[in-house]
Amino acid sequence: MNIYNTLTKKVEEFKENENGKVKMYTCGPTVYHFAHIGNLRTYMMEDVLEKFLRYSGLDVLRVMNITDVGHLSSDGDTGEDKMLKGAKREKKTVLEIAEFYKNAFFEDCKKLNIKMPDIVEPATNCIPEFIKTIEVLIEKDYAYIADGNVYFDTSKLDDYNVLTGHSSEELMVGVRDDVTEDLSKKNKSDFVLWFTKSKFDDQELKWDSPWGVGYPGWHIECSAISMKHCGEYLDIHCGGVDNIFPHHTNEIAQSESYLGHKWCNYWFHVHHLNDETGKMSKSKGEFLTVSLLESKGYNPLAYRFFCLQSHYRKPLTFSYDALDQATLTYNKLLKRIDALNPDTPIDNDFVASAKAKFIDTVGNDLNTALGITCIYDVLKADTTDASKLATLKSFDEVLSINLVREKTAEPVSEKTEFELQIEALIEERKQAKKDKNFARADEIRNQLSDMGVTIKDTREGTTYTID
Ligand code: AMP
Ligand code: ZN
Repeated sequence: MNIYNTLTKKVEEFKENENGKVKMYTCGPTVYHFAHIGNLRTYMMEDVLEKFLRYSGLDVLRVMNITDVGHLSSDGDTGEDKMLKGAKREKKTVLEIAEFYKNAFFEDCKKLNIKMPDIVEPATNCIPEFIKTIEVLIEKDYAYIADGNVYFDTSKLDDYNVLTGHSSEELMVGVRDDVTEDLSKKNKSDFVLWFTKSKFDDQELKWDSPWGVGYPGWHIECSAISMKHCGEYLDIHCGGVDNIFPHHTNEIAQSESYLGHKWCNYWFHVHHLNDETGKMSKSKGEFLTVSLLESKGYNPLAYRFFCLQSHYRKPLTFSYDALDQATLTYNKLLKRIDALNPDTPIDNDFVASAKAKFIDTVGNDLNTALGITCIYDVLKADTTDASKLATLKSFDEVLSINLVREKTAEPVSEKTEFELQIEALIEERKQAKKDKNFARADEIRNQLSDMGVTIKDTREGTTYTID
């Protein structure tokens, strides 16, 4: 497989450290709120990557952390712990919040056919590992204590910015979302490994440590959890592009200083999903979650299909129109596959060569959009229906969009949510007129007009046009 490596800024051939065994680490959610569909785009593409590696014959150990402490509202070391913020918002304890949103996250993953990682490790399970890692960093003189906190000293490294290729000065500008500067730091880019001097007296989760009662910084969590389960050599580390700096930059700094050698060979980053106003957020505008999409009648797998249609290294803009379009295409595709006859002979040579072509196509920097084209190529091919079904079932081990459905599955609709909404209103208007409720009938006509829909009553019934 060839994959773009943020570390080298090149598409490279993927080669694992240990023959046939890939150690893969993905930064998990901060469980203070629901995941938005942007976060889930990242998890979905990581899921496709894991499944593709397995599909091409490799064994994968996939580890994911759950951040339930230490992630401050700014990715720099300022602001409030996100977990505490969530607990205050909902008048619950941090542990209650963590449990609830962790479960909600995995429910969303299930709906999107995202496989559970082999190991899921909450940060609060690993306090002794964090302390041990920080002790070694202090011993090796990569970390210092100032005003009660333990900091990583970035001036000790020649290549702190190896992942970004930019200077810390340039990068810090975007990270700080307030102007408070931590005057205890020796260098601006230094970061906290262990907090004891929290600005918030009521920090709920605190542990004893050699530096006093406190809690770990966010970055150390991922370094220590990865090393705990994957050992000293990691093959591939994943996250969204916003993780490149400071989170992953700091992870490399800590891990390599701790280990004394190179830690991870490949860095895989998924670009953001944006809404039409720009960056997706959990606090402004409509909070786009999987449940919200479902409440509006969308199939979560149509959202997965929508994401697969674009390349993971490109920003993707979400709109309901775009999701409508994806739903329509997805449903049409399912309908074509539903119509295939499984009771036909299988041409194994066809299946093998289509699989090889799929591996070649998707293996070129995880090109899922062309992977979807492979589905249409199979449908058009001159072979038996059963061969097509067997091939598509196999592609679905990677794409996971339930391409081959049970014969008893409900038929899919070829209409968009918008069209279904219009038809429901027209039906309601018909009933209102029958009931001589003309006020309601007019109201519906106006409502449709506000939606950009013009209706026309004909002898055959009501027709409509969309502006
Ligand atoms: P968080 O729960 O905030 O730690 O984020 C979880 C994951 O979602 C991280 O890997 C982020 O990089 C990623 N992420 C955050 N915002 C977006 C977005 N708008 N689109 C795609 N991924 C995102
Ligand atoms: Zn992480």
